[in-house]
Amino acid sequence: MMITEELERIKSSGLERCLTMIQGPQGPVVRIAGQDVLLLCSNDYLGLACHPALKEAAIKAIERYGTGAGASRLVSGSMEPHHALEERIARFKGSEAALVFNSGYEANLGLITALARRGSRETDIFSDKANHASIVDGCILSMAKVKRYPTRDVSALETMLKRSSARTKLIITDGIFSMDGAIAPIKEIASLSDKYDAMFIVDDAHATGVLGATGRGTLEHAGVAHPSIIQMGTFGKALGSFGAYVAGSKELVKLLINRARPFIYSTALPPAVCAASIAAIEIIENEPERRLRLWQNVSSFKGAAQDAMLDTMNSLTQIIPIVTGDADRTMRISKALLDKGIFIQGIRPPTVPHGASRLRVSISAAHDAEVIEKAAYVIKETCNEFH
Ligand code: PMP
Repeated sequence: MMITEELERIKSSGLERCLTMIQGPQGPVVRIAGQDVLLLCSNDYLGLACHPALKEAAIKAIERYGTGAGASRLVSGSMEPHHALEERIARFKGSEAALVFNSGYEANLGLITALARRGSRETDIFSDKANHASIVDGCILSMAKVKRYPTRDVSALETMLKRSSARTKLIITDGIFSMDGAIAPIKEIASLSDKYDAMFIVDDAHATGVLGATGRGTLEHAGVAHPSIIQMGTFGKALGSFGAYVAGSKELVKLLINRARPFIYSTALPPAVCAASIAAIEIIENEPERRLRLWQNVSSFKGAAQDAMLDTMNSLTQIIPIVTGDADRTMRISKALLDKGIFIQGIRPPTVPHGASRLRVSISAAHDAEVIEKAAYVIKETCNEFH
């Protein structure tokens, strides 16, 4: 039977994925199989997923608006909280307008397919090789020509742009790369997009609420305020909620409402989810100390990791990879760490290249600095146990 054969093929290549159930809420410490463990792989970077203000906003919205949106936004599902969130996130991102999507995955599919046209001379998409799977899938679905440049390599990107004769050129990059924590060279790419008259999309999924003096993301961090740059991001990571946004011009939003199929053909986000996201933006604006704590924790962990001689690649951020190489070794280390009370998910192909499997550590403002410093030494000791 096809399903059995396929499962066996996955298992024998050492790439089987399984779910680990968390008993109770997200937090710096979570319960797994009755045991409290340090959670070092959540994207809840600011510890907002369980914040009382988000819970209260969601509960109030449920009382007022109920649980479901009932339909796609274009049918009867466009409710006050959707519009309020769009206004709020556009203001936060310094954009003219924004459109909310049901997830970052859907936002990337919708955005890329709405902007790219198939046909040999129509659209060339220039996509960083380390971009997130949702960008890769959006590119495939668009059926446009896709040129992938070596990660963060601005001169390779320029060579490709120079050679392109497509009517529409579209550059797309992660702001913070999800699997290695590096930051995209936004300033340089922005000037290339001007020079070659290309559209420029930044996926700020991991940078929203995290990067920049006020947490507005990669553009703020890079000191780039370019109204034509399109920003997308998710509410599901540092904002502790769910759903996603695309921020840009009013015209872009109009086009997405007409062309982005994941927006058109899917039931809208529950209103309570939007209310929680609005509460999260308020906290990010009013409590900068959370972001400062996150960065202090990042440097505490990195200091200990360096002392322990762990290789953390090019990470400049709260995403800190520890490259372990072989997929099977990575999963054995991850399992041994869980037995020692530390949960770090192993990341394997196809998410990362073959031979570059890793433990993807992510740090939160909610962590205790001393606890995560100690964890760095336990990680090193555990890696040494598996050759
Ligand atoms: N872009 C990037 C860079 C991501 O890491 C992710 C989530 N892993 C997404 C988009 C998708 O966002 P969401 O989880 O909201 O679907």
